[in-house]
Amino acid sequence: MKHRELNGVHALLLLEGEKLIESIINFCAEKSITGATFNAIGAVKEIELGFYSLSTKEYAWKKAAAELEIDNITGNVAIVDGKPFVHAHGTVSDNETHAFGGHVKEAVIGASCEIFLTPLLGKIERAYDEKTGLKLMRLD
Ligand code: ZN
Repeated sequence: MKHRELNGVHALLLLEGEKLIESIINFCAEKSITGATFNAIGAVKEIELGFYSLSTKEYAWKKAAAELEIDNITGNVAIVDGKPFVHAHGTVSDNETHAFGGHVKEAVIGASCEIFLTPLLGKIERAYDEKTGLKLMRLD
């Protein structure tokens, strides 16, 4: 991963084989970032996407192992159990420009991936919510 900070915003460049979510978690842990928002574009060679069902309270996961464009991945970083936690959703498209997307579990970078991550002043925490079965942001 290559990195440069500009006016408090972190430009990150991931290269082939690096993992998107893992890299962001490690970067935030290293920089003691406790809240952030980010977006990413680039390409993957593998991605795992999910759809969350409120009735079963489970994710249905789908893996795609192919070269795909990252049309957009948008996400945030919060703290869960004292550690950085990434929540990201994204859309990718194939060699016929057909797009699909969902909740991003992990993505292995293809050609490259450009991320702009903006740290927030302060800390955002998540906690388990019984009604949804999800770790929701605690904003109260
Ligand atoms: Zn999600």
